[in-house]
Amino acid sequence: MTAPLKNRDMSRASVEPLARPTVGSPANHPHRLIHGPLHTRAKKSLRVMKFGGTSVADASCITKVAHIVRDSLRESSIIVVVSAMSEVTSKLVEAAAQSESGNSGRVATIFEELRERHASVASALVRSAQKRQRLCRKMHALVQTAGVLCEDVLLRGALTLRARDSITALGERLAVLLVAAALAEQEVASEAIETTELIVTDACHGAAEPLMDLTRERCEARLRPLLLQGIVPVVTGFIGATVEGVLTTLGRNSSDYSGTILGAALDADDVTLWTDVDGILTADPKIAPDARSIPQMSYQEACALAEMGAKVLHPKALRPIIQRGIPLMIRNTFAPDRPGTKITASGPRSHTRK
Ligand code: ADP
Ligand code: ASP
Ligand code: MG
Repeated sequence: MTAPLKNRDMSRASVEPLARPTVGSPANHPHRLIHGPLHTRAKKSLRVMKFGGTSVADASCITKVAHIVRDSLRESSIIVVVSAMSEVTSKLVEAAAQSESGNSGRVATIFEELRERHASVASALVRSAQKRQRLCRKMHALVQTAGVLCEDVLLRGALTLRARDSITALGERLAVLLVAAALAEQEVASEAIETTELIVTDACHGAAEPLMDLTRERCEARLRPLLLQGIVPVVTGFIGATVEGVLTTLGRNSSDYSGTILGAALDADDVTLWTDVDGILTADPKIAPDARSIPQMSYQEACALAEMGAKVLHPKALRPIIQRGIPLMIRNTFAPDRPGTKITASGPRSHTRK
């Protein structure tokens, strides 16, 4: 394994906030929300926190996410990476396939159910009727955009990989709006951002790979100023875009990978994958209920486990961070006081007794 290499620009950590951000939605970016008052203090560390589908499955889960982020902001700057709500991407994959088969009735039902589910979560999360309506309008417009793409597939009777990516990306595009809204309810300043702006990829639709130099440039330009102003970027997992701006996806379950790509791009101090189990366990707890949490692992051990198919960690997720020696944590959104698993270059050996 390559030796870890830390290459931090420490001067950035002490830079004071540049200016007060505008509260409201910038006119030229209709899907961006900037919420709530400021956390203006410059932060010592930068943490990327990725929340998986079960962690944003409903309003009460999303509120837990907002609490975790709010509490962590006392010590660190945070970038939040969000998956689609559980089952949403699978429904979108189905909608794309049913469009190709000409089953317009089923496609309409899927979109109506998705619209209703997200609207009801918005209703439970957002107290102000005006803000709720604004949020629902944004989500409705996104659902309609994906619906139009499906109509086009229905007309042509053919589904390109490019169209499939744009349809399946809807879940994450909706989820970031809900998480940003939940943060606003906790008085945390945040901005929902689509990673089409941040993660530059090749054109391999459905399994796109990041172009890290360009991604790093985009992340520095777009995210660093927000972080310096104490604003939490809430960004989509799963999605990227080519240099030309064509939306791509990184593959199923790839939001873990999105989290570590962003962590590496901004040289974060650590990346945490927040999920529905206490880290990496000795076995899948759905199959072996007695499975125990493994407190520490090496990159090498975790890679081997992910490559064997342990769903808790995407097999590509460690790639971007190994070179930089950035630790990866896996923790339970529903038991945030538990430590979960910490994955580092040396694993348990770094904590041997003297
Ligand atoms: P997320 O939506 O948060 O990305 P996933 O469903 O992709 O979560 O991964 C978490 C799931 O991985 C757990 O609910 C668990 O059933 C499964 N899993 C499989 N193997 C393991 C393992 N060794 N340790 C922990 N979880 C595992
Ligand atoms: N929402 C995407 C999927 O279900 C990505 C992810 O959840 O990691 O595949
Ligand atoms: Mg996952």
